[in-house]
Amino acid sequence: MISVVGKTVGQWGIRVPARQGEGMRQALIRDGALDSSLKLLREGTDLILPVLEEREGAAWFGFEAHPGREPLPRHELVGGIAIMQENDRGGAELLLASRPSLHTIVFAEGEVHGEYRTREFTVLAGEQTTRTTVIEHGHTFAVDLAGAYFSARLSTERQRILAQVQAGEVVLDMFAGVGPFAITLAKRASLVVASDLNPKAISLMLENLVLNRTKNVLPLLADARHLDRVLPWKFDRVVMNLPLSGTGFLQEAFRLVKPGGTIHFYSLVSVEGEHTARIQELGGTVLAERVVRSYSPAQWHAVYDVRVS
Ligand code: SAM
Repeated sequence: MISVVGKTVGQWGIRVPARQGEGMRQALIRDGALDSSLKLLREGTDLILPVLEEREGAAWFGFEAHPGREPLPRHELVGGIAIMQENDRGGAELLLASRPSLHTIVFAEGEVHGEYRTREFTVLAGEQTTRTTVIEHGHTFAVDLAGAYFSARLSTERQRILAQVQAGEVVLDMFAGVGPFAITLAKRASLVVASDLNPKAISLMLENLVLNRTKNVLPLLADARHLDRVLPWKFDRVVMNLPLSGTGFLQEAFRLVKPGGTIHFYSLVSVEGEHTARIQELGGTVLAERVVRSYSPAQWHAVYDVRVS
C-alpha cells in the first residue's frame, strides 16, 4: 500500500500555481490520473495535486486523505493493467473497483531482467492476463507485459524524438521492442527499420503495424550486433534504447549512421557526461544530454543526442 505517515499519505503530486489548479485538476481527471482519495495540498501560492502514478514533473509529497475514502495502493498504469509494487490482494480489489478502465491488477515479482528486458507478474485481481492495449498520442499498441518490454513512461520521449525527425528520413530503431518508437517515428520518416532479438516482441510489433496501419516499418528479428553487416542502408537517425548495456553497441550504431546523422543513445548513468569521452572517441558530438527519469537515488536514465561527423 502507499506509505501513511501520521495522518499524511505519501503519493506523487504535480505542483502548479493556484490559478492553474482547476485546469490541471480537470486534465488529470480526464487522464484518469488524479488520486481522488487524497486532498489537494496548498503550499504558498502553489497547489499540489495528488496523482496515481509517477509522471513527468511529479515529485513525492505527503497528502491528507479524504475522510471515508480509502487511499489507493501505489501503482503504474499500462493500458488496462495496473502494476502494483506490493503483493496486496485487498488493495488490488480496491483499485480494480475504483477504476472502470482497468481489467487486471498485477504484482511485479521482480525487476526487469535478462536480454529481453522482461519481468514476471502475478495477477492479483481481474482477468488472468498480462496482455493489454495502450493508447498513446493517437497510436494503439498491443503489449504483453510478461512477453516483451514496454514502458508507457517513454511516451513524452517518443514525441520529443518525433519532433526532430525530418520528412523522408531513414531511421533505425536498434532495440525496438513492440515498436512504439518505430511506429511513432514512421509518421515522418520514409522508412524505419525496427530490430529486436525477442521473437515475442517482433510478433507484437507485427500486430501493432496492422493496428496502426503503418506500412513503412520493416520489422527485423535480429541481434543488433550483426546489423551493420546485413543492412544495405546508412541511416539518418538511430535510436538505441537499451539503457543497461547499450554502450556495447555504440560502435555498431556509428557504423550504421550517415555522416551528419543523429544517434539517440539511452543509458543508465551515475554522473553527467559519463559517456561523452567515448562518444567523442567514436567521432560524435554530444548535442544534448538530458534526464529521462530517475532509476535510484544515485542513478538515472539519460539520453544523449549525438551528431555524427
Ligand atoms: N525501444 C523499446 C521500447 O521503448 O519499448 C524497447 C526497449 S527495451 C529497454 C530493449 C529491447 O532490446 C528489448 O525488447 C530486448 O529484447 C531488445 N534487445 C536486447 N538485446 C538486443 C540485441 N542484442 N539485439 C536486438 N535487440 C535486443
